[in-house]
Order: sequence, then structure tokens, then C-alpha cells
Amino acid sequence: MDKKWITIKEVALNNNCPECYNTNGLQLTFKQQFIETSLYKSITNETTQEIFCNTCNTDIFPVMWTDDIERVFAYQQKAFTPKKASTKLKKKAWLLISTFSLLIIIGIVLAVFINKTG
Ligand SMILES: [Zn+2]
Repeated sequence: MDKKWITIKEVALNNNCPECYNTNGLQLTFKQQFIETSLYKSITNETTQEIFCNTCNTDIFPVMWTDDIERVFAYQQKAFTPKKASTKLKKKAWLLISTFSLLIIIGIVLAVFINKTG
């Protein structure tokens, strides 16, 4: 099983970076967890968000957030709509299902046929 965090939304923030005090480097990223197996792909309800400064290349962890960042973050989080959780079967899964159904149908047909002739 392959779990991946996929970027859903990126927002440039005008706040001062707590590390380098630049106002044009902060970026807020919303990510959502995807699961992929050999049979299906799934979008989960799990989301995460992170702030990164492109000027000083630093992860800005929540403990470093200023009140301003907290406020902007709260606002952006309200505005963020995650993708709906869903699961999609892959070709291989459909193939397995159709092969299985076909076998059942053949089984039924054979049973009826044997019943009639026997
Ligand atoms: Zn910075």
C-alpha cells in the first residue's frame, strides 16, 4: 500500500517570516492523503498543512507562527475545501471482478444445462 500526500492548494502569504523576516517568501500548502494499492486508488479525509519559507528555505512549524500567521492560517483553512473522499477501482480489480462474475455465470449455465439433460 502506497500512502502519498498530494498538494491540493498552495497560498502565498504576505506575512513576515519568523526566521528571515522577509514578506515575500512564506507559502502555505494544503495536502491530502491518497492511498494507492494494486487494486484501487483512494482519496482519504486526512489533510495536513505546512508553511515553508522560500526565501530562507525553512519549514515554519506551528510553534514558530506569529499571531498574524495564525490569523491568516485560520482564514485560509476555512477557505480550503478538501477533495471528497472516494475510491476508484483499477483495471486489474475490474478484470478480477469480471473474471469472477463470468465464472459464476458459466457455473450457473452449466448447472442449468446439466439439470435439463440429466
Ligand atoms: Zn524566511
